[in-house]
Amino acid sequence: MPPSPHYDAVVVGAGPNGLAAAITLAQRGHSVLVIEARETVGGGSRTHELTLPGFRHDLCSAIHPLGLGSPFFQKLPLDRFGLEWIQPEIPVAHPLDDGSAAALYRSLPRTAAALGADGRAWMRLMEPLVEAWERLIPAFLSPLPLTTNLLGLARFGVHALQPATWLAQARFTGDRAKALFAGLAAHAIMPLETPATAAFGLVLGILGHGVGWPFPRGGAGAIPEAMARYLQSLGGQIETGWPVETLDELPSARRVLLDVTPRQFLKMTEDRLPPAYRRRLEGYRYGPGVFKIDYALSEPVPWIAHECRRAGTVHLGGTLAEIAASERAMATGKNPQRPYVLVAQQSLFDLTRAPAGKQTLWAYCHVPHGSTFDMTDRIEAQIERFAPGFREAVLARRVHTPADLHRYNANYIGSDINGGVQDLRQLWTRPMLRIPPYSTPLPGVYLCSSSTPPGGGVHGMCGYHAAQWANWGLVTGD
Ligand SMILES: Cc1cc2nc3c(=O)[nH]c(=O)nc-3n(C[C@H](O)[C@H](O)[C@H](O)COP(=O)(O)OP(=O)(O)OC[C@H]3O[C@@H](n4cnc5c(N)ncnc54)[C@H](O)[C@@H]3O)c2cc1C
Repeated sequence: MPPSPHYDAVVVGAGPNGLAAAITLAQRGHSVLVIEARETVGGGSRTHELTLPGFRHDLCSAIHPLGLGSPFFQKLPLDRFGLEWIQPEIPVAHPLDDGSAAALYRSLPRTAAALGADGRAWMRLMEPLVEAWERLIPAFLSPLPLTTNLLGLARFGVHALQPATWLAQARFTGDRAKALFAGLAAHAIMPLETPATAAFGLVLGILGHGVGWPFPRGGAGAIPEAMARYLQSLGGQIETGWPVETLDELPSARRVLLDVTPRQFLKMTEDRLPPAYRRRLEGYRYGPGVFKIDYALSEPVPWIAHECRRAGTVHLGGTLAEIAASERAMATGKNPQRPYVLVAQQSLFDLTRAPAGKQTLWAYCHVPHGSTFDMTDRIEAQIERFAPGFREAVLARRVHTPADLHRYNANYIGSDINGGVQDLRQLWTRPMLRIPPYSTPLPGVYLCSSSTPPGGGVHGMCGYHAAQWANWGLVTGD
């Protein structure tokens, strides 16, 4: 008789999805071990003193509309394990060269009122979707976007399938609303002329109005830390400092779930995969990368527009046309002259992030896959454009090039932070068209990272769905 397995399930990788998979299985009474390469859990959600003592920076993720909106996280008692969400006064501000800023407020009417002539169009677009968000967002965060709210889904689909540029041009007349929508949609990390990039703008807008764009007190690392504590309370075990090279080194288990991307999976399995499956996995497409800077500041950023001084997130890049040009350049292998920059200023609302009176700033821009170009000056020129005098407030900066990010987390291939391109061809068929997409030809082995549906972001839904399938096998003895 073969020896009985040590664990019901082993999970490789303690990112939000690996931990979500482990929690899902532990909640169902299974014994689970999580193995993580680094010394701490967290994956793309970790907080460290990266610049000066007392300045706590979010190394990767910072702002979490998908986290608070995640149907999986909503069911976990993470508040009992140390997670506390902070809502900034304004979720997102978007400055323009005339010194004003468009802003996405939690309140739809307030957002519309501040958009002037485009206010009614913003209301008409967003109001029915925001009203339906509690059913639409779970659909969007599923392996297939299915919901009983067919009218809501149809309404969403009609807009969402368009390129963001089309939707913005067709719906809005003024620069402010167009720029605000472009800043939301550019989270797609694709040219804004690509079909379905409007979906990213809509989902992030809906979440902004529905749940806000919050962040955890103390840092993004509080999310996986709370998940790890909850997992351990369920009996789950975690081993850190163990970079898994091959599946053969894992303790015996009835199920193995891998919070890694296809390229690492190919390496771990050596030649155990059928050639046809291997070839398809080799064809998996990774996307552009990011270039990131964390700052320790002597004072808040001196934004010209007052909305930016009260916002958790600030999108820099100016008009729709400029942001579209920046994203187009990145996608064609060029480092944008005037990049679209995402900025987060958590310390304005969370005093644990910096010594008294001081601030942190988190900023990154999109760059071509694996780019080696230093974007520091271009990022800072964009901040100075809307906040003259910014550089004088910089006490220290820590730059993370695409290569640094990939070294830090093996899942960031070429510093692609979403685990693969998220266009229509690869969003719900990641890593390939297969039912369920989490399964592999190796019996009992599943992928559960953001390279599976519904893709990137700290929401845990990839891990949750993969674990549901793994649980089915454990329960039925399949
Ligand atoms: C700069 C940046 C900014 C971001 N901003 C946001 C944001 O504001 N909001 C948001 O929602 N998302 C953001 N993201 C994206 C988010 O971090 C990821 O989508 C998310 O972390 C994916 O979770 P995951 O569990 O699939 O993978 P990961 O979080 O990448 O976790 C994978 C884990 O597996 C481990 N691992 C990999 N290979 C092995 C191995 N061989 N052996 C053992 N362990 C291994 C890694 O060390 C890592 O801990 C950002 C990412 C970056 C880099």
